[in-house]
Amino acid sequence: MNKIYDLVIIGSGPAGMSAALYASRANLKVLMIDKGAPGGQLLNTNTIENYVGAKNIDANELASSMYKDAIHFGTEYNYGEVESIITHKNKGNNLFMVNTKQYSVLTKTIIVATGTQYNKLNIPGEKELDGRGVSYCATCDGAFFNDKKMVVVGGGDSALESAIYLTQYGEVDLVHRRKEYRAKPHLQEMVKKNDKITERLGYNITEVKGEGLVNEAILTCSETYSQYGLPTQGLFISIGHSPNTSFLSEDLLTEDKWINVNKETFETKIKGMYAIGDVIDKPVRQVANAVGEGSEVVHHLLNYIQSL
Ligand code: NAP
Repeated sequence: MNKIYDLVIIGSGPAGMSAALYASRANLKVLMIDKGAPGGQLLNTNTIENYVGAKNIDANELASSMYKDAIHFGTEYNYGEVESIITHKNKGNNLFMVNTKQYSVLTKTIIVATGTQYNKLNIPGEKELDGRGVSYCATCDGAFFNDKKMVVVGGGDSALESAIYLTQYGEVDLVHRRKEYRAKPHLQEMVKKNDKITERLGYNITEVKGEGLVNEAILTCSETYSQYGLPTQGLFISIGHSPNTSFLSEDLLTEDKWINVNKETFETKIKGMYAIGDVIDKPVRQVANAVGEGSEVVHHLLNYIQSL
């Protein structure tokens, strides 16, 4: 507890790992904390096709190589589930205590890079059948559904990409609550041309049923509320993500719980506390900009540390 870090990074996705590399290479004493394995959302993806210079790279391989690079210059890595951050004034500057469920650490600066988690439908059967046919990640779990009937819920890029991806294993019903998708036009074209996908537009899934394993999804018409049961063994819920910010105070967040930052410096309302990656309020959430933000934020954070 006596040790004071220059920087604690909370979250070890591409943003956090990039910041760890830049900060430890600049000789800062850095600790990176995560409640899961390093890689963030990369671990829920199969292949990355849109990270320049890494054509069609296996996402797990990219995560592992980012991790090796991040710790190469001396970043320490520790498992921990952050519950709160307390600020102390130390000669006019902030010193932070990061409290995890397991331990507490002191640091001069913080980068929050905790990313997002999958949204839930919150319908009967979803929790009970999670991992028993209910999934939030087609690329992680698709292979369990070889020759099975699957349902994908959602109308965004992720849902349509998941539906297309899953057709390598079996037939897919794509259920979306409105008649129009919000996914990119080329994905909509691919769905329409794929004869293994049946589109069911204007329906909500209101219950998932099964004795131990999923065997039926109940669809309710968004307009008439009429219902019918669709036999299925897999329900893939792909209805967006929410930020992991429950350990932060409300005044740092937007109404939807994303972190508000200064768009140039990535500093939050609290001096010395920064945030980067998918967890901040911004329009594009990609590996490329997460990594870029990791390098940018360290530049600003170094200026701050030198001013202490
Ligand atoms: P998204 O764009 O927010 O789409 C979420 C979808 O889920 C929407 O169609 C929404 O319906 C539906 N939905 C939300 N809550 C629902 C509920 N309670 N019940 C039923 N349906 C519900 O999320 P995303 O597809 O995960 O994409 C997130 C971001 O990542 C986007 O910016 C996307 O462009 C990006 N992304 C990009 C790529 C790529 O470039 N290849 C791939 C994946 C994701 P409504 O349309 O009716 O609101």
